[in-house]
Amino acid sequence: MEVEKINDRSIYVFVATVFLILWQFLYSAEAAEVDAVSQPALVVLIDDVGDNLIKGRAAVELPGPVTYAVLPHSPHGGALARLAVQGGKEVMLHAPMENTHDRPLGPGALTRKLTRAEFVRVLQDDLDTVPGVLGLNNHMGSLLTRLRPQMEWVMEVAKERQLFFVDSRTTPESVAWRVAREQGIPYLRRDIFLDHEATTAFVDQQFQKAIAIARKEGAAVAIGHPYPVTVAYLKTALPKLDEMGIRLVTASALIEEKAVERQLQEYYERQKQRAMQFSSVSPCEPSESCSPLN
Ligand SMILES: [Zn+2]
Repeated sequence: MEVEKINDRSIYVFVATVFLILWQFLYSAEAAEVDAVSQPALVVLIDDVGDNLIKGRAAVELPGPVTYAVLPHSPHGGALARLAVQGGKEVMLHAPMENTHDRPLGPGALTRKLTRAEFVRVLQDDLDTVPGVLGLNNHMGSLLTRLRPQMEWVMEVAKERQLFFVDSRTTPESVAWRVAREQGIPYLRRDIFLDHEATTAFVDQQFQKAIAIARKEGAAVAIGHPYPVTVAYLKTALPKLDEMGIRLVTASALIEEKAVERQLQEYYERQKQRAMQFSSVSPCEPSESCSPLN
C-alpha cells in the first residue's frame, strides 16, 4: 500500500517535472526566436558569378546563407548555380542590362533596341540558363534601369515566374525598384558595393559601413564580386557576424521578413484608425441632453 502511494507520488513529480522542462524549453525557444528576428540582418550578394570557375567556386564555398547572382549563358554559370543550391545557398539571375558607357555586356543582354517580344524572350532564355533561380538583379544597367517601359517588361516576367527583384542601383536615377513596387514584385535595393576598389582595406571599410546601415535601418544589402580579395575577406568576416549581433540572411529571407513587418504595420495602422474612429463618435446626438445619465 505504502509502496503504491510512493509510486503514485513519484509519477506526479515526474509528470510535473517533464511539464516544467517542456514549458521552459518552449518559452526559451520562443524568446530566442523573437530575439533573433529583432537582430539586424545583412544580405551579402555576390554578383558576376559564371565566367571563372575557380573564383566562382571559392565564392560559392563561402560560409553561411550567401546569395549569388549568376551571369546567363556564362561558361560555368550552370555548374556554379547547381553547386550553390546544393550547398544551401540562394541563386539569382544577374541580368545584363545596357549601360551608359557602352561597356560590353556579354550574351543575353537586355538593351533598348529590343522590341517587347524580343526583350521578354531574351530574359526568359537568360532565366532558363540558371538552375534554381529565385530572383534577379541587374548587371550594369545604368542606362536601361532608367527606362520605365523596359523595367515594366522585366517585372512582367518576374511576376509570371514568381521571382523577386534586387535593384543593384547602378544609377541613382534607376526606376527599377519603383516599378517593382508598383507591380507588386517583392524587391530589395542595394545599399552598398563592397569592392569597387579591390583591396582588403577598402572591402573592410565597406563591410563595416554595411553593418552600420544594418544596425541603423534594421537590414542592409551589400553587393560584392568573386574577386580573391573579397572572398578571402568574407571567409573570415562572415563567421564573426553572429557574435556581433548581426544575422546573415538570403535575399528572399529578408524580403519575407519585410513583408511580414509590412503586414503587421498595416494591421496596427488599421487598428489605430478604428480606435480613432471609435473615439471620435459622439456619445449622444447633439439634440439630446448629453448628461452622463443618458
Ligand atoms: Zn555585374
